[in-house]
Amino acid sequence: MVQLERNAVLTQKVEVAPGLFIMRVAPVGWQLPPFKPGQFAVLGLPASSPRHPLCDLEEPPEKPDTWLRRSYSIASSSREGEFIEVYLTVVRSGTLSPRLAMLEVGERLWLGARISGLFTFDEVPKTTDLVMIATGTGLAPYMSMLRTTLDERDERHLAVVHGARHSWDLGYRGELLTMERLRPKLTYVPVISRPAEEPVPWTGEVGYVQDVWRRRVIDARWGHRPTPSSTHVFLCGHPEMIDATVRILEGEGFREHTRLVPGEIHYEKYW
Ligand SMILES: Cc1cc2nc3c(=O)[nH]c(=O)nc-3n(C[C@H](O)[C@H](O)[C@H](O)COP(=O)(O)OP(=O)(O)OC[C@H]3O[C@@H](n4cnc5c(N)ncnc54)[C@H](O)[C@@H]3O)c2cc1C
Repeated sequence: MVQLERNAVLTQKVEVAPGLFIMRVAPVGWQLPPFKPGQFAVLGLPASSPRHPLCDLEEPPEKPDTWLRRSYSIASSSREGEFIEVYLTVVRSGTLSPRLAMLEVGERLWLGARISGLFTFDEVPKTTDLVMIATGTGLAPYMSMLRTTLDERDERHLAVVHGARHSWDLGYRGELLTMERLRPKLTYVPVISRPAEEPVPWTGEVGYVQDVWRRRVIDARWGHRPTPSSTHVFLCGHPEMIDATVRILEGEGFREHTRLVPGEIHYEKYW
């Protein structure tokens, strides 16, 4: 059985909406390794840690001395060496997320010293326009990408399309609206799928993120159509969204990117 130690501490916890958190984790007594925007870290807690009371009972319960570990995309800038920030949703039937949600500032957890992942800008030409599409916490890698490059004079067009059920689930909305004003070529398109439940009428995009692509919302904002010759598309979050969007993009001539066969579609499925 893997034995880990609580080598990190929670330094900030913000509840964006019920069950949706922005958390900062700092290493204790060791240095974070360098990482690239878009990569992920691994967090862990022993199964003996308490579960969030609103989550389902675990049947059968995990053995208390088992260490539970899961991957989380880093939302903080890769220029930030003191902590990593993660954007966490609690899966009610889940194993680790109901336990991470119970941590309070000052409490310890395990943070893997190895940060990895290929969902980065490494294989994207510097002048290529970028469309970054996310559902839910799939926004995290884009926050790291945008925060890391905020002061770079980017001539290319960027678009972030973020889908959630409700407006109150659109984490980082204030920061993205601010970035949009600071970066003239950044377009931020929040989209919600349950507008009927909004307390005040929602005047933005409705439906799913792939509907935003189909309705040519980005084309209208950029003043030109994103094509495979000018644009790379990043997709992160719900696997069904990724599969559906890849199909639409392939119909327009975009191709999945692999190390061996370069293309314009990059994705990270969370499950
Ligand atoms: C590379 C990578 C990066 C990831 N980054 C993040 C992140 O930044 N934030 C984050 O919250 N999760 C992220 N995940 C998912 C995370 O690793 C866990 O799977 C998630 O927290 C659920 O773990 P669990 O032990 O509670 O549930 P498990 O017992 O492992 O149950 C997994 C089930 O939970 C559901 N699920 C998993 N992730 C999500 C999610 N994000 N939203 C809704 N349902 C989900 C799926 O139905 C999945 O089958 C990432 C996964 C990968 C592979």
